[in-house]
Amino acid sequence: MHHFDYRGDELYCEDVPLAEIARAVGTPTYIYSHATLERHYRVFDEALAGQRHLICYSVKANSSLAILRTLFALGAGADIVSRGELHRVLLAGGDPAKVVFSGVGKREDELEAALRAGILAFNVESHGELLAIDRVAGRLGVRAPVSLRVNPDVDAQTHPYISTGLKKNKFGISADAAREEYRLARSLAHVTVVGIDCHIGSQLTRTAPFSDAIARVAELARELCADGVELKLLDVGGGLGIPYRDDGEAPPSPAEYGQAIRDAVAPFAGLDLTVVCEPGRVIVGNAGVLLTRVLYLKEGGEKNFTIVDAAMNDLIRPAFYDSYHAIRAVRRDAAAAVWTTDVVGPICETGDFLARDRELQCVPPGELLAVMSAGAYGFTMASNYNTRPRPAEVLVRGDRFAVIRRRETLDDLVRGEELPDLLAPRG
Ligand SMILES: *Cc1c(COP(=O)(O)O)cnc(C)c1O
Repeated sequence: MHHFDYRGDELYCEDVPLAEIARAVGTPTYIYSHATLERHYRVFDEALAGQRHLICYSVKANSSLAILRTLFALGAGADIVSRGELHRVLLAGGDPAKVVFSGVGKREDELEAALRAGILAFNVESHGELLAIDRVAGRLGVRAPVSLRVNPDVDAQTHPYISTGLKKNKFGISADAAREEYRLARSLAHVTVVGIDCHIGSQLTRTAPFSDAIARVAELARELCADGVELKLLDVGGGLGIPYRDDGEAPPSPAEYGQAIRDAVAPFAGLDLTVVCEPGRVIVGNAGVLLTRVLYLKEGGEKNFTIVDAAMNDLIRPAFYDSYHAIRAVRRDAAAAVWTTDVVGPICETGDFLARDRELQCVPPGELLAVMSAGAYGFTMASNYNTRPRPAEVLVRGDRFAVIRRRETLDDLVRGEELPDLLAPRG
């Protein structure tokens, strides 16, 4: 469910025509719907009603300050994976006491910054990290709250690049080793065990892998309780998928997902447990589109190409995960020809495509296309490859819109670079 719909033949975001934003801001531009963000957050929140919970929005899905501010205003916490993301959370007015810190490679300066900020928990991913946290906390004279991220060894049945809960993945501590690590954690002077955590992957389209993972974690939690560990947080990670296609594919609804979580934690009803969720994509994915302008049409013998001004540097998901994004003409024309085309960018890579073999209205040069469901892992994965400025970002709320990140300039593209003296001719 989102707020990008046609009125007449014009595609709108809420009450604003996308063409108006293109006129004011140019293209390519990411456009987000405030109402959709609110709606997704609320639906997710309601799905967990009756179970004490905290929604720690996964910042890496879309880390724009304005998006963070929107979600924090609704009560969200944050799941971060770097010091940079912590910086963003604090700038956007997030409550550090609602922040969990995930990631396999936290540096000591990152641990220190998070300890100083007073976060809710570190999701610890290895033996070495546990010792590092104890060391840094000792140096600061504090105790670090930790959950261990358990790798439950379940197949999330998603793209291999976004599957994280198998033994062969780099993430978490194996379920076999976890109990021993908990024993160690409890013996450390500067660590307090507060919870248990897992996250098995992204774009999950069935609830079974979640249920399996949470069941494994719950089993372990029971053993830990028997060992005398007082768990306050049961963090079930993120990963709920979204529909990327206009037809077919229907991932579990937040309600089904919420039910799976409630079922899995039911045995802990007697405990004073908060379920932490780390949703990213399901909150922002369908709340954003990438607006792009058609530059050229190329009719080939074998293939047709629609060449647009957005590229893989702006939205890498199709190239990286072979993912599907629906594409809509911003001005719908029932009389226009329909053809099968690849939608490609200007970058010098064959992998630079946004869609392949897509049946689309033939949209002439100068007109606009919207790449749908681009709100998650869109801008945050954008790069400057081919020395292209990253797109502007716009937030729409009702009949108003605002630039929440201006388009990069040519100066931005070379910021921080030097031409040092050692390049001068010798002599
Ligand atoms: C990426 C990530 C998430 C969010 O995943 P989504 O699929 O966007 O919901 C949550 N937790 C951790 C640890 C992650 O790495």
